Amino acid sequence: MKKFVRIISLVTVLALACMIFASCGKKSDLASVEEEGKLIMLTNAAFPPFEYLGENGETIGVDVEIAQKIAERLGVELEVVDMDFNGIVAALASGKGHIAAAGMTVSEERLKSVDFSVNYVTSAQYMIVPADNTTILTSADLKDKVVGVQEGTTGDLYASGEWDGDFGVKQVLRFSNAVEASTALMNGKCDLVIVDELPAKLIVAQNESVLKLVDTPLTLEDYAIAMRKGSDLSKIINEELQKMIDDGTVEDLILKHTAVQ
Ligand code: GLN
Repeated sequence: MKKFVRIISLVTVLALACMIFASCGKKSDLASVEEEGKLIMLTNAAFPPFEYLGENGETIGVDVEIAQKIAERLGVELEVVDMDFNGIVAALASGKGHIAAAGMTVSEERLKSVDFSVNYVTSAQYMIVPADNTTILTSADLKDKVVGVQEGTTGDLYASGEWDGDFGVKQVLRFSNAVEASTALMNGKCDLVIVDELPAKLIVAQNESVLKLVDTPLTLEDYAIAMRKGSDLSKIINEELQKMIDDGTVEDLILKHTAVQ
């Protein structure tokens, strides 16, 4: 009998230990999405055509529609959280959202704290210069220039000499989005702006009389959706994304959101 009691107490202690351990362990992302009934996407809504504000202040764009499809597959609502681009990776890693869809370039540095989905867009950094500029043509011409960028982006890293070497830039002016950087350029506060291809093209198209794009790209980059390290959402996200790449949905979305700008 004593032995029986001892076994029962041992089993009880083990069961309690398991429960405590489980409750301390991190909830899986899939479980969290299901429990909350929503997929939370972190982004910076100042990066058209990928994410920008619609007429009623809602965030729309290519990434939002992609994430919407993923949320539908998961059977939940999509919640979009608009924040500074510079804080997105840390916010995602600390659990403030399930995914980050923000025209985000896959980089070694970011891979240290988050995982990435399959790549869905190829992009590049481009230089925007005043329309009458004839001297800034390649990265070699960055020497001694004041460069406007969006803080924390690959354009910022490039201008700062942390992406592809030091180009002897005089000063890097960091803004919270590319439109602000371009406004500074139009006001003569910097010599050029470095920004991703499609946002750069849209900014130039909207200010054609005063700005132009330098034809030669500075980098070659891939956009992917970021997830928390080890996220169990990756299988579904990759499946949905691959489907949308293969059937032309991603391309169509880019055309659609470029046309409305
Ligand atoms: N592709 C760039 C990066 O990942 C810029 C993204 C953005 O500004 N939304 O750094």
